[in-house]
Amino acid sequence: MSIDSNTVLTKTIGDHQLKAEISLCCVLHANYPFQIHVTLGAEKVFVYSSAHISNTSVQDMQKMFDSVTVHTCCNEGCDHPILQTESEDQSMQCSSCRSAAAKAEFAKAMIEIDREELEELIARKEQGMVYRTSIWIHAEFGDDEEKIVLSDRQLTKAKIQQYAKGAGSVTAKPDYSVCSIDDYIDSLKARIAEAEQGA
Ligand SMILES: [Zn+2]
Repeated sequence: MSIDSNTVLTKTIGDHQLKAEISLCCVLHANYPFQIHVTLGAEKVFVYSSAHISNTSVQDMQKMFDSVTVHTCCNEGCDHPILQTESEDQSMQCSSCRSAAAKAEFAKAMIEIDREELEELIARKEQGMVYRTSIWIHAEFGDDEEKIVLSDRQLTKAKIQQYAKGAGSVTAKPDYSVCSIDDYIDSLKARIAEAEQGA
């Protein structure tokens, strides 16, 4: 007899409560082979079968469930449990380490962008630039875009509108803010220092 698609299996390994459920894709799509996902807190792994759900029994699902083992996160100092299937290698990190790593990666990329801008601003300041004008381009279609104009004197509103229009902005008035390059350099330096401290 084929398995009920609502079947849920649970078991305890040590202190860990594991749960196995049938993935919706193999219930909804007639051509998908049977598939389950096993969870332990935020950890989740998939186990695939080659058979169709109509040819799968609870015992088959139990066997797939039993192929999932509990290990400890590969990161030193982290004792979070992770789930592994037979097909995976043994060096894996837990979901919270994975998201921390992704966050750190993103922060690093942001610092890099700030550093590049800082370098450029310092170089342009040496060339005599004093103002940094940020102009928002509101195009008829698509996302808004920021255009930065560096200048040795304050741009007139008419000039700013000319830049905005030239870049495809459709608003009647320019959407902009002006900052001295010195102030902007200071704020960039502060932002980089803060990000480095957090990293
Ligand atoms: Zn971890």
